[in-house]
Amino acid sequence: MGTSVDEARKAERLPLLKGQKALVTGANSGIGRATAIGLGRMGADVVVNYVSDADSANQVVGEIEACGVRAYAHEADVSREDQVVGMVSRMVEELGTIDILVANAGLQRDARLTDMTLAQWQKVLDVNLTGQYLCAREATKEFLRRGVVPEVSSSAGKIICMSSVHQIIPWAGHVNYAASKGGVLMLMETMAQELAPHKIRVNGVAPGAIRTPINRSAWDTPEAEAKLLELIPYGRVGEPEDVARAVAVLASDLLDYVVGTTLYVDGGMTLFPGFATGG
Ligand code: NAD
Repeated sequence: MGTSVDEARKAERLPLLKGQKALVTGANSGIGRATAIGLGRMGADVVVNYVSDADSANQVVGEIEACGVRAYAHEADVSREDQVVGMVSRMVEELGTIDILVANAGLQRDARLTDMTLAQWQKVLDVNLTGQYLCAREATKEFLRRGVVPEVSSSAGKIICMSSVHQIIPWAGHVNYAASKGGVLMLMETMAQELAPHKIRVNGVAPGAIRTPINRSAWDTPEAEAKLLELIPYGRVGEPEDVARAVAVLASDLLDYVVGTTLYVDGGMTLFPGFATGG
């Protein structure tokens, strides 16, 4: 007899992604973690990429396996070409192919413009933008080789680029991060245009403020959270699962005709909340 937690988990499991193979980068923390588990609940086998902290990656693998699908953890730095090539080729060997890439890994190295070092600038561009390009390039080679398998999905592959509201909202003190996410928008749209004729769907997900380690200082005191909420018309900070559900539906055939779009998951942050009473 299952516990009520088990029953609730089962109820959340829809076979929307049954038989599909997903790679989630940066999947041992925050949004990537919730997304990897969410895709497993929807029936996908999942590769859990991480760059440090193997224990947390293995814990995510355990949670995904509990959904009755396959999973394994793979250490790779998404900004290193050889490591990305190795990660995707191992996935094809072990799971047979790749159907879904969630290019999620990302980081911040914040500084005012005049204090920012070239190393801080370069690190953020390397991981947030070049990392997505490398992962998308390697996944696409396999999508093109395999083509559409109608029993699995209507498309030959899906790429979800994890962006941010800062792909369109300028962000003082974070010029490297905002530039990287602005780059992700054009990377995503250009890949979408180039790959759609091959039945590959590329889309973006742009979270607003989500409760994860990357932005802890923005929500971990009542004062900080109250200030943050001024930017969120919907009146709550987002949870990683809010983003995970958006990714899973976007990756599924339910949204088969959605190509080159950004789905904002931001509680209305991009609605210029300052103008609700001003202007
Ligand atoms: P997080 O710090 O919890 O997770 C980031 C993950 O990326 C970690 O697992 C980290 O180890 C991994 N990573 C970092 N460098 C890597 C590398 N070189 N190779 C492989 N993995 C690497 O933060 P998060 O909030 O879950 O962020 C996930 C994504 O969501 C990022 O792209 C971030 O920019 C984006 N995002 C987050 C928010 C938010 O409010 N939390 C808002 C908008 C966008």
